[in-house]
Order: sequence, then C-alpha cells, then structure tokens
Amino acid sequence: MKKIAILGSTGSIGTQTLDIVRTQGDLQVTAMSAGHNIDLFEQQIREFLPKNVAVWEEKDALDLKSRVADLGVKVHYGMEGLIDIAADPDSEILVTAIVGMIGLRPTVAAIQSGKNIALANKETLVTAGHLIMPMAKEYDVLILPVDSEHSAIFQSLNGDRMNRIDKILLTASGGPFRGKNRGELANVTLEDALKHPNWAMGRKITIDSSTMVNKGLEVMEAKWLFGVELEQIEVVIQPQSVIHSMVQYEDGSIIAQLGTPDMRLPIQYALYYPRRRPLGGKRLDFGALGSITFEKPDFDTFQGLALAYDAMRAGGNVPTIFNAANEAAVALFLDRKISYLQITEIIENCMKNSAFIEAPKLEEILETEKQVRELVASKYKD
Ligand code: NDP
Repeated sequence: MKKIAILGSTGSIGTQTLDIVRTQGDLQVTAMSAGHNIDLFEQQIREFLPKNVAVWEEKDALDLKSRVADLGVKVHYGMEGLIDIAADPDSEILVTAIVGMIGLRPTVAAIQSGKNIALANKETLVTAGHLIMPMAKEYDVLILPVDSEHSAIFQSLNGDRMNRIDKILLTASGGPFRGKNRGELANVTLEDALKHPNWAMGRKITIDSSTMVNKGLEVMEAKWLFGVELEQIEVVIQPQSVIHSMVQYEDGSIIAQLGTPDMRLPIQYALYYPRRRPLGGKRLDFGALGSITFEKPDFDTFQGLALAYDAMRAGGNVPTIFNAANEAAVALFLDRKISYLQITEIIENCMKNSAFIEAPKLEEILETEKQVRELVASKYKD
C-alpha cells in the first residue's frame, strides 16, 4: 500500500485523485484536507477513512468533528491544520491539490518532513521556486508535476535527462477567447469566462486559463521545475489540447506527450512514478481528430501573459506580486465585483506599486502577498 496525503480533496484535482485511489486499490489515504465543502468532505472521510483531516475554519472543524465522531478521525483546522496534514507521519507522498498561495507553507512542511510532492499547486513554485527546488534537493524529495503540461515535459524528458535541451514547447489551448481582440473582451461575463473549451477544472484556474494568466504561471513553474532559462520556454497555442507539451533537444529532435484531456493521467503518473498503470477512459483517435493546429500566442489581447513574462524577468518577489494580485482580482471577478479586463489592470497596478525584494525569504513572500491583498482590497472595496 502506498500511503498518500491530499491537500484539497474536495476540489477538481482532489476528487480525481480519489478516483484513482478508488480504482487502483493499492493506495491508502492517511490524511486529507478541505476548505468549506463539509458535506462532500464528510462523504470522502467515510469512504477513505483517513486518520487525520483538516478544514480551514474552526466552526467547520467542530461541525465535522461531531459528524464523524463514530470514526475516531482527528480533525485539525487553520494553517496549522493544513501543515499537520502535509507533514502527516504516515504518508509517503503529498498531493497538493489546494488552490492558491495558501499551499506554500504546508508544501514546505511536507518537504521538510521528507515527503515526495505530487505538485498541482503551481502557486508554490511561482512564488517560491528559488526556495522550494533547493529545499527538495536538500531533503532528497521528488517534486512530481501534476499540471498536464509539466507532466508532459517530465515524460518527454524521461530517459533523456543527460542530453541538453534547446527549449521547452509549452502548449496552450488558448482558452474560450482565443482569436478575440482586447476590445471584444470588455463585456465578457463570468459565465463566458467559466466555459473552458477542453478541460473541466476548478473556478480559479478556469478564469486564469481564459486570461492566459494560467499559461504565464505555468511558464514560471516550468522554469523552476526543469531548471531552464525563461528564453528557453516557448508558448505554442494548440487549440485541440491533444499535445500536452514538448521538449526540443539540441539536435532539433522534438519529443512530445499526447493524449485526451484527462487530468487523471498526470495525477496517476505522479503517484506511481516511474511506473505506468492502466487507466480507463477515451483514447486518442487520430482519424476522428483529423488535424492538430498551431498558433502563436497573442500578447496584445492576453496582457496577463505579457505581464507574467515581465514578472519573471524582474524576478525577486515580482512573481509573488503578480500571483497574489491575480488571486485577489480573480476572487473579485468571481464575486462579480469587477469587470473581466480589470483582472489584468489590477495585476499591472500591483506590479507598479509594490516594493521590490531581490531574493525574498519565505516570510517576505508571505508578507508581499499580504501587502498586495491589502492594496487590492483598499482600491476595490464594494
Ligand atoms: P478547486 O477550486 O477545484 O479545488 C481547490 C481545493 O482547495 C478544494 O478542495 C478547496 O476546498 C480547497 N481550498 C480552497 N481554499 C481553501 C482554504 N482556505 N483552506 C483549505 N482548503 C482550501 O481547484 P483545482 O482542483 O482546479 O486546482 C487546485 C490546484 O491545482 C491549483 O493550484 C490549480 O492551479 C492546479 N491545477 C489544477 C488543474 C485542474 O485540472 N483542475 C490542472 C493543473 C493544475 P473546498 O472546495 O472544500 O472549499
């Protein structure tokens, strides 16, 4: 039995991770956390019987405790609760399926307690890649990508790690607004932005995909995961989401990973690496597919992607400013408090008006996040 812990079991990645646990039969969930979806969390606890669980708020923890009193499960809460789940003494690997920078401290705790990380929470590497990657090396733990593009790159590097690569070709679907110009985005509604053409994901990442901020975050994630320069990462629009990403070696050879859009594949690959396991679901049918097409990204329309490159070039705490501003702005957009184009406006504004720190420590990253959130809140109150 391989023992796993999950942060964010009630979300899109979390529930798909539990699907894999259900079908494979040799994984055991020892600890898991959720945010506010207590009904689903209770069902999951009853089905998977972890020893330790956590929720965000104390009142939810008290409610949950009485609901699962018959099971002898220990209920934690708050940031300390998330850290308890991440560093659970029984687990070997932590799936970071929680959304946002809130995942940073628990991931650090997991690495420091020697757990391998199946990393979905891209915000961790975006904001603290310069700390996390050396820490993983120091504690001899693996950071196994769950993001489909990064898993594709990871798979395309398999067996070829001693060879020099020219570049990473990071594919993107282009999202629901591909082909539009900036003017046409002015009246985009929440419902329009939540309709991703190929992937069913959580709400925040779905909005990030529509603005292409998600691709910007993925560029930053790839830089840290694979130790390449920013100039070695090229974003390629591939609207059918069939090629999940590619690696070009120094002899010009390109290795790609393809498949139907199904997040269970990269999650399962991370959980069983380096082994592959059977996985049900649709297979690619090239005859039915007909064609795979490619485009260049449109940096004028998708300013979030352009700002991500600016943040990465600036370095230091600027990726944190970019990410925290985006998290705050997307939350406001999801609450219908701002318009669609104000998301990138807020990011740009925060990047211009926040103090620069060249090599931020963990506490400085968290302080930057707090200041950016305060800045956004002060300007965009209802
Ligand atoms: P979801 O919004 O679907 O799920 C987020 C999870 O985090 C839920 O379990 C939620 O709990 C939990 N959570 C949120 N806030 C808190 C909090 N304050 N305290 C404790 N738990 C909290 O997100 P996704 O699954 O889509 O994404 C998760 C991560 O994976 C993100 O970083 C995303 O970028 C990345 N990712 C996702 C992909 C996808 O296909 N979905 C693809 C690649 C990467 P609850 O619902 O109970 O409130």
